[in-house]
Amino acid sequence: MPAPLILIVEDEEDIARLVAKALEKEGFRTQRASSLAEAQEKLNKETPDLLILDLMLPDGDGLELCKVLRYQEPGRHLPIIILTAKGEEIDRILGFEMGADDYIVKPFSPKELALRVKAVLRRTRTPEPAEEGVLRFGDLSIDVARHEARVRGEPVYLTRTEFNLLLTLARARGKVLTREILLDKVWGYTFEGYARTVDTHVRRLRKKLGPCAHLIETVWGVGYRFRT
Ligand code: CA
Repeated sequence: MPAPLILIVEDEEDIARLVAKALEKEGFRTQRASSLAEAQEKLNKETPDLLILDLMLPDGDGLELCKVLRYQEPGRHLPIIILTAKGEEIDRILGFEMGADDYIVKPFSPKELALRVKAVLRRTRTPEPAEEGVLRFGDLSIDVARHEARVRGEPVYLTRTEFNLLLTLARARGKVLTREILLDKVWGYTFEGYARTVDTHVRRLRKKLGPCAHLIETVWGVGYRFRT
């Protein structure tokens, strides 16, 4: 199997080079694009294993690409790490809501970036046990193998992270999971200050689950629990 291919979308030459170097050192293959148009062009030719995406690009906002990719195949499953100088909490939340898998704020350590890439690839590549089939909870059904959730028979469009969060909670039904445990199980690492990420995703997930939103309970001061 060839080494994973990482597409780096970044208009600042120095940063793009730094990222490419850090990843190549870890054995990844890299490609670079310095605008949204170039990124799209590269994506049409070959689907990478992961996308590193700057937000402020000469021809637009990286979040737009993130949004577009989430509504098309095979982009829907493409892991995306946002890399940006905008470190405001609001941007972070926005990035996750647009379906990003992780978020790195500049300036960053190349070593940490490589670790994050590995963590994202690990959790997005872990095959689900096939024997589980479909989990059913009243109006909600979760098809583990197909990565699909349905509410009253209608498909619910979840990002991979949202699906994994739902599945993690459902598998542990009845048990309270702390934000730290959820970060570790769903995102692949625990990181101080990222607890808000879990809250944002749960909020988003509940909204998408509509009449089944009540299945995910907030346990104040602790975390979340899937109702049985
Ligand atoms: Ca930029």
